[in-house]
Amino acid sequence: MLPAPFDYHAPETTEETLALLDQLGDEGKVLAGGQSLIPMLKLRFASPGHLIDINRVQGLDFLDERDATLRIGPLFRHKAAERSSLLASRYPVMAEAARQVADPIIRNRGTIGGSLAHADPAGDWGSVMLAMDAEFVLRSKGGSRNVKARDFFSGPFGTTLQPNELLAEIHIPATRGRSGGAYMKLERKVGDFATVGVAVHLQMDDGKVRSAGIGLTAVGPQNIKAEKAEAALRGQALDDATIKEAAALAAAAADPTSDQRGSVEYKRNVVRVFTERGLKRARDRAREGARG
Ligand SMILES: Cc1cc2nc3c(=O)[nH]c(=O)nc-3n(C[C@H](O)[C@H](O)[C@H](O)COP(=O)(O)OP(=O)(O)OC[C@H]3O[C@@H](n4cnc5c(N)ncnc54)[C@H](O)[C@@H]3O)c2cc1C
Repeated sequence: MLPAPFDYHAPETTEETLALLDQLGDEGKVLAGGQSLIPMLKLRFASPGHLIDINRVQGLDFLDERDATLRIGPLFRHKAAERSSLLASRYPVMAEAARQVADPIIRNRGTIGGSLAHADPAGDWGSVMLAMDAEFVLRSKGGSRNVKARDFFSGPFGTTLQPNELLAEIHIPATRGRSGGAYMKLERKVGDFATVGVAVHLQMDDGKVRSAGIGLTAVGPQNIKAEKAEAALRGQALDDATIKEAAALAAAAADPTSDQRGSVEYKRNVVRVFTERGLKRARDRAREGARG
């Protein structure tokens, strides 16, 4: 199908983008990588009157680490995450998720910011951001506000992002000391959305967990932060019993539906197994010396 007619805008600065968003309100949609928006337009699930293409705005594709924060710009693409040596060495959960998002063609264009704004409960980045306790900077013409990932998602394809706001930056606490992470994904074939995904991020101190993050993909109406499992790990040595307990709590936090990919029980069990494996992998990586 062809999209409904729309006007196309290609601003060259962030200020111009924010002015357009302000002026167009509900009728304006940001176009980043287009890997979710264009299919939505073609299927006529969305028919905004105006597209605001941000690809000509310079300097939005950044990834940098300063002042104890990893900062990611709205045009930082999945492919760039996959290729980043910084992410590979210090943020393994991100590097591992990046190479499992969709297929290489989609990864070439799609952005992390676009994926988060789209808020597909089967999207991989939402869980990663929940595990890493990310915060999003939402800018509008009138100002800017910061929203924690855990307060950002509001249901299937729903967020607290307002029509006049741009997801302008993603902030992630920089890893310190020994840290490790993992992203485990079950898909029916390469390039598929997750049947189940689990993101794990650990910060260790003297062999004990200083902080733990666990995000779940495709097992609820939105990406889920498994907070009880995280709390059960805090301050603990990662022995097998502790890992098993956290995995059971993560499985209990999942709220999957039964469909052609599997039953509720099956998906919950995959969450349990993946959390266990993810925690062990993250622990081993922290021991191997993913150091800040
Ligand atoms: C066949 C296929 C398979 C896929 N498989 C996976 C997968 O396995 N895992 C996965 O996670 N994803 C998958 N995706 C989705 C993919 O990751 C998209 O790239 C991503 O969801 C959207 O990013 P984008 O930059 O292309 O955003 P766009 O398509 O340009 O935009 C998506 C939405 O976000 C809004 N938006 C974009 N950027 C901003 C911003 N900075 N501020 C405010 N709003 C913004 C747009 O207005 C739109 O509503 C798949 C997509 C396809 C088509």
